[in-house]
Amino acid sequence: MDKNKYSELVTKSKAISNKWRSLPAPQRGEYIRLFGEELRTKKEALASTITKEARKIKTESLGEVQEAIDMCDFAVGLSRQLYGLTMPSERPNHRLQELWHPLGVVGCITAFNFPMAVFAWNFCLAAVCGNSIIWKPSPHSNGCAIGMKEVWDKVSGEFADLVLVLEGGNEEAVALCEDKRIDLISATGSTQMGKELAPIVSARLGKLLLELGGNNAAIVCPSADLDLTIKGIAFSACGTTGQRCTSLRRLFVHEDIYEDCTKRLQKCFDELVIGCPTKESSQIGPLISEASFNSMQDTINSLKDKGINISGGDRIEIEDPNEFYVKPALVLVNQIEEEMLSETFAPILYVKSYKNIEEAIQMQNDVSQGLSSSIFTNDMRESELFLSEAGSDCGIANVNIGTSGAEIGGAFGGEKDTGGGRESGSDAWKNYMRRMTVTVNYGEDLPLAQGVEFDEN
Ligand code: NAD
Repeated sequence: MDKNKYSELVTKSKAISNKWRSLPAPQRGEYIRLFGEELRTKKEALASTITKEARKIKTESLGEVQEAIDMCDFAVGLSRQLYGLTMPSERPNHRLQELWHPLGVVGCITAFNFPMAVFAWNFCLAAVCGNSIIWKPSPHSNGCAIGMKEVWDKVSGEFADLVLVLEGGNEEAVALCEDKRIDLISATGSTQMGKELAPIVSARLGKLLLELGGNNAAIVCPSADLDLTIKGIAFSACGTTGQRCTSLRRLFVHEDIYEDCTKRLQKCFDELVIGCPTKESSQIGPLISEASFNSMQDTINSLKDKGINISGGDRIEIEDPNEFYVKPALVLVNQIEEEMLSETFAPILYVKSYKNIEEAIQMQNDVSQGLSSSIFTNDMRESELFLSEAGSDCGIANVNIGTSGAEIGGAFGGEKDTGGGRESGSDAWKNYMRRMTVTVNYGEDLPLAQGVEFDEN
């Protein structure tokens, strides 16, 4: 890494953030509106870049650009709603309230699998909140970052530097984390990455927003509508070739419907269309890399060594011999296997039967990650238990929907080893601002809080 170039980049970002933050928030929102308009006109081209780099099928790539557009719309509205509370003061003639101010420069480190949407989650909020952003994309998706930057440059006039791209790998990410001038590190990627970067940021008492790996589960209850359920499971487990942080990895099925459910699931898996992501008919494209394929095979071989029966999981050669297409694996297990406790970033679905809902919830929660979870049921008591404090321990809990495919309106993120961060909708914007508690005395006396006396004698 060229240290001088890096330092210049941060200096530029700091300078533009100082200028940008003094624009009224609704005017900042207007720039984001223009950004969203331009994304609309470039939707097809940007989606093609995602397909080229992340190898997503076309409809998912278009969906990802749509997500970025949705984030713009959300942020434009938000630019007039960065509300602070006003609290009643305990003292006469006093006002107690909160003000929200920009942080400065946001360092945004992103993963390969959502190469535009995660940037949009961060940038749209960071920008309306008055910050600049330095974006370190995944080495797999520099073209996506350049594509987004070009769109921003077209609409941003004097504020082009609000988005600066720092191409590179671990060294560049570490530099951002070590740098005191970076006011927030927002990092998306594996739990391993989070564990390595968090101590670096914490050592300088920096602000950190982590969106890390998941190990998501769904529970299928006896009352579930199986047509809807099978479709939801197939999309969550196999869509994006099992390479979403929210991909479904573990399935707990009630023993009364286990046989029927697994048979239908097998049929559905067998019928999935695996093929080049640019083809309209393809439902599953290749894995991102050979390393990713090897990691999938390591898990499968480890299961096979234990004599566990696996359907699928093998490589299929389609067109380009350098690409790694795989058949999604369905793994029926009689007990919780060690492999189920970690995230293999590939389409492997473990299925286990359960006897009662409490047992299913416990198995679901009994992993170190806490991102997404689902229940398929038409029994209100079961779904409410699942959503209660005794239910799912994840940041996302769905009823009659798979674990993946969240909308931008809600806060996105998870607990435990998923990192605890929240991005995108709801009040996630607060992560990109600092809260100032303000007390104003407009009276003629100086009463102290809690009735403390400090009179002159
Ligand atoms: P990754 O951890 O390999 O890389 C993510 C980013 O971190 C990249 O920009 C990479 O260059 C950087 N990085 C990785 N290791 C680093 C290190 N040791 N030091 C410094 N920088 C490092 O992840 P990936 O393979 O690109 O993406 C898949 C992972 O991301 C999965 O675990 C998935 O669950 C997770 N993910 C999480 C979310 C979420 O919102 N929770 C969203 C997308 C992906």
